[in-house]
Amino acid sequence: MERLNREIRYNYLFDRWTLISADRGKRPTDFKKLYAEKSSESFICPFDAGNEHLTPREKLVLKKGNRWIVRVVENKFPAVENGLLLDNGKGFFKRLPAYGYHEVVIETPEHSLQLQDMSVENIFYILKAWKNRIVYIKKDKKIKHVQIFKNYKKEAGCSLSHSHSQIVATSFIPSVQKTLCKQFENYNGCYLCDEIEQEISEEERMFFKTENVVAYLSFAPQFEGEFIVAPLKHIHSFEETEDTFLVEVARSVKIAISALVSVFNNPPYNLALFIPPFNYDGIFHWHIRVFPRISFHAGFEISTGTLISSRYPEEIAKLFRSHIQQLL
Ligand SMILES: [Zn+2]
Ligand SMILES: [Zn+2]
Repeated sequence: MERLNREIRYNYLFDRWTLISADRGKRPTDFKKLYAEKSSESFICPFDAGNEHLTPREKLVLKKGNRWIVRVVENKFPAVENGLLLDNGKGFFKRLPAYGYHEVVIETPEHSLQLQDMSVENIFYILKAWKNRIVYIKKDKKIKHVQIFKNYKKEAGCSLSHSHSQIVATSFIPSVQKTLCKQFENYNGCYLCDEIEQEISEEERMFFKTENVVAYLSFAPQFEGEFIVAPLKHIHSFEETEDTFLVEVARSVKIAISALVSVFNNPPYNLALFIPPFNYDGIFHWHIRVFPRISFHAGFEISTGTLISSRYPEEIAKLFRSHIQQLL
């Protein structure tokens, strides 16, 4: 079988896709030296101010005065790419060209600043960059979904410690998004609006609430300590969110991440933005989910998709609440 450098393969039994990108193993990392016994070579970070020439093509830059705050560049080792590949898959095994976009959002020009250290204004610029890229990529009719996420620390899949998030736009709808849409569609009204209402009235899983944003622990999480940050009022997709409102979301992200960092001693985590796929016209309510990586997924979780949690979300919510008083 002819093999491409990257391709998308479909797994029928699990109704899910796999991206194969043969050169991603060559990605640079600055984490190895942290664990190496001796390291004489100094790592030059391509995301620092002054090293802009070391990154691939720039897709967006957001500046304040003459200093950039956030840059979006193409991923040097993309999982998908928007060049044309001709193979279409044949026979029993369905495969597609790995068409798409893979971009990196460099979240600050400063090497050591993480979300919890950044100004609300800086985080607002990050969200604004996400929004701009979704609007831009949506114009490409071959793209069905854009996934935006952040990996924090090596244990959560991060290869460069300089704060960044990633944008992966695909020509297929990933299985998680397929399930989400199906569940939203099967519900009468907006499921998330109703869930939020119940979380606010039950209180025990509440993290915090600002004028327009709510944060709470997931009732039945996929990872221990998983929490949701969502607009209180119904907004279908992220790109429809007004900039003034994004400032409040930025402030909420800072509060939530700061509390997570202090409660679990700066743990690895993944953060993901959930938005509807582009061709979905049912009800959806965008939200952010943060998945702390304080527990491991073992055989049962991998074989069943079911978490065995050693802690109640209600207990973790209590811990989170005790750390936010000074932040609100
Ligand atoms: Zn850096
Ligand atoms: Zn809603």
